[in-house]
Formats: sequence, structure tokens, C-alpha cells
Amino acid sequence: MPDSVRPTTGASIFDRLEPLLPRVQKPIQYVGGELGAVSKDWADTTVRWALMYPDAYEVGQPNQGVQILYEVLNEQPDVLAERTYSVWPDLEALMREHAVPQFTVDAHRPVGDFDLLGVSFSTELGYTNLLTALDLAGIPIESADRDDSHPVVLAGGHAAFNPEPIADFLDAAVLGDGEEAVLEITDIVRGWKAEGSPGGRDELLLRLARTESVYVPRFYDVDYLPDGRIQRIVPNRPDVPFRVHKRTTMDLDAWPYPKKPLVPLAETVHERYAVEIFRGCTRGCRFCQAGMITRPVRERSITTIGDMVENGLKESGFNEVGLLSLSSADHSEIGEVAHGLADRYEGSNVSLSLPSTRVDAFNVELAEELARNGRRTGLTFAPEGGSERIRKVINKMVTEEDLIRTVTTAYSGGWRQVKLYFMCGLPTETDEDVLQIARLAHEVITSGRQATGSKDVRCTVSIGGFVPKPHTPFQWAAMADPETIDRRLKALRDAINANRSLGRAIGYRYHDGRPSHIEGLLSRGDRRVGRVIKRVWAEGGRFDGWSEHFSYDRWVSACDAELPALGVSLAWYTTRERQQAEVLPWDHLDSGLDADWLWADWQDALSEVEQDDCRWTPCFDCGVCPAMDTEIQIGPTGRKLLPLTPVTS
Ligand code: SF4
Repeated sequence: MPDSVRPTTGASIFDRLEPLLPRVQKPIQYVGGELGAVSKDWADTTVRWALMYPDAYEVGQPNQGVQILYEVLNEQPDVLAERTYSVWPDLEALMREHAVPQFTVDAHRPVGDFDLLGVSFSTELGYTNLLTALDLAGIPIESADRDDSHPVVLAGGHAAFNPEPIADFLDAAVLGDGEEAVLEITDIVRGWKAEGSPGGRDELLLRLARTESVYVPRFYDVDYLPDGRIQRIVPNRPDVPFRVHKRTTMDLDAWPYPKKPLVPLAETVHERYAVEIFRGCTRGCRFCQAGMITRPVRERSITTIGDMVENGLKESGFNEVGLLSLSSADHSEIGEVAHGLADRYEGSNVSLSLPSTRVDAFNVELAEELARNGRRTGLTFAPEGGSERIRKVINKMVTEEDLIRTVTTAYSGGWRQVKLYFMCGLPTETDEDVLQIARLAHEVITSGRQATGSKDVRCTVSIGGFVPKPHTPFQWAAMADPETIDRRLKALRDAINANRSLGRAIGYRYHDGRPSHIEGLLSRGDRRVGRVIKRVWAEGGRFDGWSEHFSYDRWVSACDAELPALGVSLAWYTTRERQQAEVLPWDHLDSGLDADWLWADWQDALSEVEQDDCRWTPCFDCGVCPAMDTEIQIGPTGRKLLPLTPVTS
């Protein structure tokens, strides 16, 4: 809003916050001032964004999405972007007692003073933290109660592909890549403010909705059938689109962010320079929402990757580099990237890593190449399913021989520890499918001992609960109930330990089925689930992604209190299989994937039929490329990384 209409000052509240900090845990997380942070005068800017990652600083600070948008926005001379994170309950209590509002860590300005509050959701378990932040900021929790004096609250990130459970708390949601979207939104806000904010908040939201890539829930009505299913979701005004489309940034070389990575002062979950080497994935794992909604594959070129690493290390002082993507070994020039970077940084203190989940020997070769420059980080492989049958259902094309060959190569190459990721509760899963994980793990240790002639080999089996996600072929699937998951996980532990010699070499990490069950409610929920979220929050729900804060009983009792009157229930949202004709809460949100293709892929899953990767086989018509006017962009470019010339002064 123009500053004359909405005279916020952005004045720092640090003098009120500072006396509280000695009384809370890890106060350094609230002070900001990191290397890479930007400081601007409020009065010199016209569009002001508060960017939030709705978790604690230690988790939120390294988030690439927020760091990229922070930098892209702050590069605009008249735009100010600052960051805010969830405050721990100890500080929340003190802030309420002393009337200190939700603040940014950069200049400690009240979040309520900004024009926009952009919240990035990687997981739905952050929803209650959104409500805490809104409430602390003095922003009404329900969007319907906000007026021109409040920021526009926007959601992004993967969870925004079904924002319906938080629709009442949002003004808007943006689907897909953010780099260009935030600049387009900024232009609209700038123009509207320059005109004197005609039509107030409603007009601004309308202008955003007309872009067809910003979803404004209040402009859409949901009608329900007597049995609780959705009848239709339609615009309630003529000038907004029937479907809202995702944004796709096609040329990643043109967006080489972060250029100035933020270096945390407090301890965080990742302290490294991370380069996203490509975006999107067409491997087609049917459970993987990230792979489906980020199509098509777009690679960064080898030379841009090299330049980003060089510049990022110089700017940050980090000595660790992560080459990130959904399946990094699939970059068409990953061999050259690994070799070139290993050569460049050989003998330095820079360590390079690749989150390795692909199960093949090439992955081990890559890890060996990268380990030339530093320590050997653990190797992780993700077969995801214990039996050959279930791996066909989920389209994880890994045979048992692949896995044994891969881990044997790793053990023979000097690795002593590998991690194996699996899921429990997958569609069509039986007890036997899960018990096969124990047999596989035993086989891994036996083969490792044979290959190395040593008993000093270990593996860790890490297993999580499957959550069906929107815009995937499993969006129609029934979840297993938490009791079934827990029974299978316990039986698996017993089966691993049934052989004491092998069992001793196998670590076992699992999460009980209950948080996944609630994540399932929030992932595929509709607007009626908003009442549950609000009740859970009002009853103290915070940091639901943290096991020490998560309360399953609180969620169940909130569902029991809110949902029966609406003719639905927790089980209705989670353990019920959907039919093809059912209108899903996200059907009006377009990820580019063709609904008929998704359904056909779901039927293929039930028939245990696999689907190849379109990077190396012909297009199988998932719909993304024609729908979004995009195409897969992969190399090889044939370029090489040249040695760096030492800088002499
Ligand atoms: S439309 Fe074809 S080429 Fe594009 S991502 Fe889908 S299957 Fe691959």
C-alpha cells in the first residue's frame, strides 16, 4: 500500500527484544547480521517483502528457496526483503508477555509493517507455525478479517500445490518456481501502490489473480456433495481463471543464485554452499511429489556450476559444497562436473558432496571422485521398497542385484558404512514386502563381509511412513493406518535382529506412523481441514515437524471435534481410496501433469508395470511440456571445467 495510506515505519523492535534474549535458548538465532545479509533503509524502498520459513532458524536459514528469493528481491533497488523464522515457544511466551511482535532477523522490523509476507512451505507440518507467526505479527489469522493495513500473506513451496487446508489463512499462493514469480508480483504491487492503491486489498489480489499463476482462494467457492466429497471448485467472479498454472523458470543458467550465500552465525542443519545442478526429475517414482511437480528437467550447464561454486566459496568462506538436485547423479555431465571440481579443489580444504540416492555403481564412482578432496561422507542409497514387487509398484527400477553390486562396490572402495532408505505403508504393501527389507539388509552385510574379508562393515536401515501427495499417481491411494505401520515396523526390527551376527551390523531408524498420518491429512485435505489446524494451534500445537513437540492426540481430538459435523473424519481423508471421478481439492491448480496420464500411471502401479525416464526414452506424454510450453533441457554441452588461475596480489 502507498506509505500515505499505510504509514508503517519499519522501525526496529530490537530494543524491546534484546532484554528477552538472555532468558531464551540459543538467543543468537534471533540476532541476524550474517555474512551475506542485506541492510536497506525502509524509506528508500517502495515494495517490502518479509520472507518466512516456518520453522526454527537452524532449519530455515539454510533453505535455498528463501535465500534465492531474498537475493533476487534485494537486487531490485526499490525493493526490500528481510527474513523471519518461527520463534521457539520460550521466546513466543515472552514476546506475548511483553507485546513484542513477530520480527525479521535482518533489521528486527515488525512483520506486520511489510507489504507482503511470503511463506515457503516444504512440508505441511509447518502450518501451525504459520498461525503463530500471523498472531504474533498482529495479522488476523483469517484472511477475511484482514484489511488494507495488513500485509498480503502468500504461500509458496511444494505444499502450495494444495494450499486448500490453509486457504482461509492465506491471501494467495504461488505454484512452482519463485525467481520470476516474485518479480512479477513485485511489479504488480509497485504499480498498484504508485496509482494510490485503487480498490484496496481486493483490487490488488484481483490483479495478482489475473496473472493466472497466483491463486487467490477467496475468489473460488467450494461446493460439497451430501457424502462429503467435493462437487466443484469454481471462481466466484468472472475475471479470474478457472485453473491456476504453475511457474517454470526455464533457463537456470540465467538465474545463478545464490550468488551471495547467507552464512549462519548460529548452528544450522547445513553449513555449506549448495548449488542446484538441475531442477525437475523424470525418473517417475510414483510416490515423489517433488519429482512430479518440478518437471520438466532443466540442467545447469557445467560451466555455470563451476562458476557458481567458485564464486559461492569466495563470497561465503564455506569449505563444503553440495551439488544438489532430486537425483544428482542423473545430470548429463555429472562425471565431468565431479572430475573437474575434484581437480580444481584437490589439495585444498574444500570438500565436495553429492546427495547420493541412486542405486548404481556409477554413484559410488562419483562419490570416490569427490572424496579425493576431503573426507568420505556416508553413502546413502534409496531402494525405497523391500521387495522387487513393491519396487515395481512405486516405479523404483532397482533390482536386488543392483543394490548388492552397488553396496559391495562401496565396501570394497573403502566405505564401511552405508545408509539405505525405505518407506512403509506403500500402496498394495503387505507384511511380507516390509519383511523383505530385513533379508536385503542381511544380504548387504553378508556380501560386504565377503567382498572385504572383514567384519567391519555396517549399514543403517532408515524407514519412514509413506504419505500420498497431490499431483502424483498415488494421489488416489489409501494410506495404511498408523497401527498397521507400527506393527510392520516392529516386525521388521525383530526380523533384522533374528540373525544376531548380521543384526549387530545393522542400525535401524524408523519414525512411528502417527506424524505421517497427520501429514496425510494435511497433504490431501480441503478447506474443511482449516478448522482442525486452527483448533490444534489454539490448543498449543507448534513445531509439528519436531517429534518432541508433535502431539498425535491433539490432532485426533481436534479432528473429532471439528470434522463429524461436516460429515467427514480423519480416516475419510487418509485411509480412504479415491475414485477417478472424484473432484480432488487441488484439481483447479495446474501442475502441468495430465490428469488422465496420472490415473493411467496409478493403474500401471496397481498392475506392477514400470515407466521409463523420458530423458533417455521417448516422451510418454505426462503432459507437462505441451501444457506449460516447456521442454526437457539436458546436455551434454561438451564443455569442460578449466583449472582455476590462482589470484596473485
Ligand atoms: S511431456 Fe514428455 S518429455 Fe515432457 S516431462 Fe512429460 S514425459 Fe517427459
